[in-house]
Amino acid sequence: MSIVYIVSAPSGSGKSTLVNELFKMVRNLDFSISYTTRAPRGSEQNGKEYFFVSRKEFEDMIAADEFLEYAEVFGDEKVRGEYYGTARRFLLEAENRSNDLLLDIDVQGASKIKEKIPEAVSIFILPPDREKLEWRLRTRGLDSEEVILRRLETARREIENYSKYDYILVNKVIEKSADQLKDIVLSERLQRSGKALSEEDKRLVETAQACRLDRAREQVQPILASFHPQVVKGN
Ligand code: 5GP
Repeated sequence: MSIVYIVSAPSGSGKSTLVNELFKMVRNLDFSISYTTRAPRGSEQNGKEYFFVSRKEFEDMIAADEFLEYAEVFGDEKVRGEYYGTARRFLLEAENRSNDLLLDIDVQGASKIKEKIPEAVSIFILPPDREKLEWRLRTRGLDSEEVILRRLETARREIENYSKYDYILVNKVIEKSADQLKDIVLSERLQRSGKALSEEDKRLVETAQACRLDRAREQVQPILASFHPQVVKGN
């Protein structure tokens, strides 16, 4: 049985870089390339980061039950969001190859996958604080002011869902976070393998355990507070 890893993070948290680093370090792991109706950004290529499709094509795929999950992301009362979806075939293909599968999906998608595959491993990546996230969104220069503000608001809402995840990773230093992500992936493999763990394996499992939700809660509180500037400390 393939292990399904779900990675979610507010946009601009450095998730893509971390996931790219992970794939350089871990073997037998497939990436589920999502379908989306949003336009490609920067150097993105069809079939690499995403499959870019029209609304009609996406809705036809929904009707044909081709998605394991899908969601409309970044919508609000005024603006219709874009569709993003995980195709069922990626999980089947990973299983046929005896590989594990990593899904880079949002909070809504993560909870739908957890309902269908409760043993999936979910990992939430957090930025160190709101200021750093805003800085990253602005300096990458990919989005308009309106989109940046919407992403920050979405980030605030998404971060409040952190406690639905199994692991929390605060992305301060990219190299360190990439190692932690790798340890989580390898640790889950070791624990599910049923084999006796060596001392080295045990150390790896222990490093990963440090990111478990119950041990990370304290770290999350100041980050959550930074997204609610109206709550002044001491008041
Ligand atoms: P972006 O447009 O920045 O690439 O992604 C926006 C959000 O959509 C991210 O939070 C990303 O994780 C999420 N996303 C990407 N693919 C999927 C998917 O297949 N399903 C769901 N539910 N969310 C996705």
